[in-house]
Amino acid sequence: MSLVPFPFKSGTTPTIFERSQPGRTGTAMTRPDVPTRPLPELIPQRHLRASPPRLPEVPEHEVVRHYTEISLKNHHVDRALYPLGSCTMKHNPKVNEQLARLSGFAGLHPFTPVGAVQGALGLMYELGQLLVEIAGMDACSLQPAAGAQGELTGVLLMRAYHQSRGEAGRRRVLIPDSAHGTNPATVALAGFEVVELKSNEAGRLSVRALREALDDRVAGLMLTNPNTLGVFESAILEISELVHQAGGLMYMDGANLNALTGVARPGDMGYDIVHFNLHKTFSTPHGGGGPGAGPVAVRSHLEPFLPMPTVAADGGGYVLDWDRPLSIGRVHGFYGNFGVLVRAYTFIRMLGRSGIREMAEAAVLNNAYLSARLEERFPLPYGRGMHESVFSGTELKRRTGVKTLDVAKRLLDYGFHAPTVYFPLIVSEALMTEPTETETKEELDRYVEALLSIAAEAEEDPEIVTAAPHVTPVRRLDEGRAGRELDVRWHFPGEPREG
Ligand SMILES: *Cc1c(COP(=O)(O)O)cnc(C)c1O
Repeated sequence: MSLVPFPFKSGTTPTIFERSQPGRTGTAMTRPDVPTRPLPELIPQRHLRASPPRLPEVPEHEVVRHYTEISLKNHHVDRALYPLGSCTMKHNPKVNEQLARLSGFAGLHPFTPVGAVQGALGLMYELGQLLVEIAGMDACSLQPAAGAQGELTGVLLMRAYHQSRGEAGRRRVLIPDSAHGTNPATVALAGFEVVELKSNEAGRLSVRALREALDDRVAGLMLTNPNTLGVFESAILEISELVHQAGGLMYMDGANLNALTGVARPGDMGYDIVHFNLHKTFSTPHGGGGPGAGPVAVRSHLEPFLPMPTVAADGGGYVLDWDRPLSIGRVHGFYGNFGVLVRAYTFIRMLGRSGIREMAEAAVLNNAYLSARLEERFPLPYGRGMHESVFSGTELKRRTGVKTLDVAKRLLDYGFHAPTVYFPLIVSEALMTEPTETETKEELDRYVEALLSIAAEAEEDPEIVTAAPHVTPVRRLDEGRAGRELDVRWHFPGEPREG
């Protein structure tokens, strides 16, 4: 495979501010024939600008070009494969967007009386029912705004449950060492104590370590299934039984549900609580920090504690149920990120019962294919995963000095987003790859060829890889500083960066 040359030198295309010329406009507005009062009469003097804002003065097509141009400066799922493990970067069907934009949905005000928003409430109610069925649970709250907030809600549910039974002393939450970082963060934020459990050689939770950790201080176990290695926790029934016998609750981080939908259900595995990442499994554009949704479903013994209000069916219609004396309260302003709920509902209804199952099967098949093609060059310390696999770059690094980070950067030159790297922590030089069900075989082959070609480059001319990326608008960034001192605003030449 040869590299497609980048059509222009990075950073040379003028920004919208540089394209600006005084007096140039994009639209011709008709002068209003209604008498208007001068602004100063309506707005107090002290709120008026001293000088006009420095807005770009450009015609419409320059605006369009500007946005098209910046959309190409970054990688996104509408450009090519985006195999970021654990994040499930699948195609987001455009019909989801059309439905979420219907004015009856998009124009709703959260204070609209319940009687006038029956359609929206009906959608929320039905979505809750669908999620409950997919997870094998009994009840659901759609409020949490993301997976991490779903986790927090889940741990608060654990707390409320134990308190209601006079067991407030249960303040420990068990978490395997392969867990996503949000799991321990959630537990700490809820004021609980994290107890880390070792994984065994197969990458599964060690049942022996679990037995040793279980006592009357344990509130519950948080366990992703399949776990972050993509490995199914095949002892799950025994694990659930042990945790329940010890008086604890089972929490499933449902971020990996894409491997299971329509095939296996957390409720049948003994889980009491599960969160969904609707933006992952059920397709909403995500990854830019935009809105997500992390609904939480529970078994009936936890239902009284769910956040309020819940959406309930009442006679022929729907109501918001505030009469929930044991509820942990609200976890989100109003009712959750409604636009994401519309997209997930659309997606699930479009697929239907059999489609939901095919989705998981195809996600697992795609990953099996990818893993089989790559494992000779990039070993899999814990074997092929279900919907994602964690390759190790240790062997490549030992032989060539090329690190996983370099491989990830070089992939950008080939037009792909990198997989998740250096996570989970128990795999050294980890490349955690999740192809999702929406990629074609040809696209998976392109990705495999790119990785194999990078491995060959590492042997022959490692500097090409260690100096990558070469063709992106910016080269390697100081990611630590970018995180701490995020600055995404345009600055005029000479304008100070502060303020
Ligand atoms: C993405 C993810 C989370 C966090 O979900 P957000 O929606 O990003 O808050 C938690 N656990 C796992 C395993 C994940 O992949």
